[in-house]
Amino acid sequence: MRVLVLNSGSSSLKFKLFNLTTNSCFCSGLIEKIAEVQSLISFSIHQEKKIDKKLFIKNHHDTLEVIFDILFDSGVIVSLDELSAVGHRVVHGGEYYTKASIVDEVMIQRLKSLIPLAPLHNPANILGIEALMKKAPHLKQVAVFDTAFHQSMPSKAYMYALPIDLYKKDKIRRYGFHGSSHAYVLKQTAKFLNQNSDEMNIISLHLGNGASVCAIKEGLSVDTSMGFTPLEGLVMGTRSGDIDSAIIFYLYKEKAYTLEEIDILLNQKSGLLGVCGENDMRLILDKKDKDKSFQLAVDIFVYRIKKYIGAYFAILGRVDALVFTAGIGEHSSKIREMICNDLEVFGIKTDAEKNNSKQEKEFSFHHTNSRVPLLVIKTDEELEIALQTKELLL
Ligand code: AMP
Repeated sequence: MRVLVLNSGSSSLKFKLFNLTTNSCFCSGLIEKIAEVQSLISFSIHQEKKIDKKLFIKNHHDTLEVIFDILFDSGVIVSLDELSAVGHRVVHGGEYYTKASIVDEVMIQRLKSLIPLAPLHNPANILGIEALMKKAPHLKQVAVFDTAFHQSMPSKAYMYALPIDLYKKDKIRRYGFHGSSHAYVLKQTAKFLNQNSDEMNIISLHLGNGASVCAIKEGLSVDTSMGFTPLEGLVMGTRSGDIDSAIIFYLYKEKAYTLEEIDILLNQKSGLLGVCGENDMRLILDKKDKDKSFQLAVDIFVYRIKKYIGAYFAILGRVDALVFTAGIGEHSSKIREMICNDLEVFGIKTDAEKNNSKQEKEFSFHHTNSRVPLLVIKTDEELEIALQTKELLL
């Protein structure tokens, strides 16, 4: 079975073609700067041959033409009939979708109604879906939502203590994001520990440029750090995470910031970047011993994660694994060590040698005396989208 996964942004489109008999990726690529003077195309086949091209691509429809040309010209497929389906990453499914679902007209109308909740992402996701509907009307399309995995949260976790009408009329509540990543991490953790995923309690730490933590109880998300938008929660590359919302009124009333400036400040100029002027954790770690602002950025980042781990232990009671994933979680033994340091109270103890060992995909780094397994699992959101697409077709 072959499934193409599309991740459409407003000016970019990522694709990956999977063979789901072996769960391997045939071909993957990225088209950037759509509708700009020169769009950038890069792709690789069987993770080897890399091709980079520059071309003017007018819109998402033409981008799909380019992608299918790549797939046909390289001989990866000879006909669209070879594709069983296309799985789309869709950021916001609101309360409509608790799992991946087949795309139809009703869904498109619902996704449009959710645009105010995800103004940057849902319009781009819809563009990708509509372009494909035009290009290949008979091809099955499946939407896999970032929010769906968290629809299992109980109301006490997803409700804000705001006037209830803001929820009932305006749908203001916590939704959570990175759902495909947390779902994939759960499955891989269960495989790694040889347990059933629906019996497992885990804390999943997705630590990349965007970062979130998820408390998973008996295979279901019961809480997560991102909320109404991906701004809430952990300190991220450029996002502040949790702040006192009164800061917004203060900046607006007393410091003459416009609302747009505050939006940009919190989403694009805060987080690690705001504290030390850099959002690449590798550079920050390199410089932290020479410059206090870099050390402070790391300290705030790690401290916030520790607070969430403590909170999620309190919610879950029993934790079967603490799992690290995404760029920082997978690659930075230093950050993993700082996070796990002084958490013996929760039965967490690292093995420094295992933590520092360079391993490809999945490994554990807990001490033999640790009550809680500590794991690194390489996330693969696109593969998870392909797998959920497949599950829906079977
Ligand atoms: P992602 O959004 O998952 O691609 O993760 C991006 C983040 O991972 C950036 O902050 C990178 O600096 C960070 N990252 C990638 N590799 C490493 C590494 N070896 N050590 C520390 N941080 C890393």
